Amino acid sequence: MSTRAEQVTVARPVSKEGIGLHTGEVCRARLLPAEPSAGVAFALGSGCVVPGNVDHVVSSQRATALGSGEERVGNVEHLLAALYGMQVDNVMVEVEGPEIPSCDGSALEWVELLREAGRRAQGTQREAGRLGEAVWVGGGESWAVATPGRSGLALGVVVEFPGTVVGRQTLWTRVSRSRFAREVAPARTFAFIEELEGLRARGLARGGSVENAFGIGPEGYVGALRFPDEVVRHKALDLLGDVALCGVRFTGQVVAVRPSHELNVELARELRRRLVR
Ligand SMILES: [Zn+2]
Repeated sequence: MSTRAEQVTVARPVSKEGIGLHTGEVCRARLLPAEPSAGVAFALGSGCVVPGNVDHVVSSQRATALGSGEERVGNVEHLLAALYGMQVDNVMVEVEGPEIPSCDGSALEWVELLREAGRRAQGTQREAGRLGEAVWVGGGESWAVATPGRSGLALGVVVEFPGTVVGRQTLWTRVSRSRFAREVAPARTFAFIEELEGLRARGLARGGSVENAFGIGPEGYVGALRFPDEVVRHKALDLLGDVALCGVRFTGQVVAVRPSHELNVELARELRRRLVR
């Protein structure tokens, strides 16, 4: 068994506190070491533990929420993407508050936190899930396809916002620790300024600010960008976090055109059903 194929957990507990993007409330997530093959799970209030997989998704409107009964946690996707991208398999996430902290709107602070936590190899082989044939979800302008591959995970993402400064952006990346940390993790959440009023009226984006998102207005971007194509990179981050909900490391390629959390979660559901371990 090679060291690289061993499952990994965090070497020591770490935690982060911050504002929730949608509720605006102060939230905290504490990452604790977990047993081999435990996967990622969320410990919510009153002893409720929710596995980090698609069977426990309770909402995919603008962000992905997991829950069980009365207990739920929102905005899990950036943390899940960071755990997948940084190849940390088993973690218990203790959550205080209704959401995972939004940090700076990207996964960069989670990557830094995971580096601070350190890695502990667990001596148990990492499981990979493979597909026998391609899986398609969605249709029309928004669709995704997952295809079998021999090693690792590659993501292709296309976004199109015609008539805006974003236009059409495409990204192709292989998910390795270094490429994830460099190319995908730093890309922040964005919001169309004209949509913000509507989102707030629906009780969303209450914690959104220039601290954790960048804006797209009729005149162009509001605030400085980290990448000229930060929009498509953030969509790749969301896609990875949602695909991680299939519950194992997927070996293959995913191409998503105009993805949304709803589409990503549908894909994760199909992958969970069809992946062969
Ligand atoms: Zn996001």
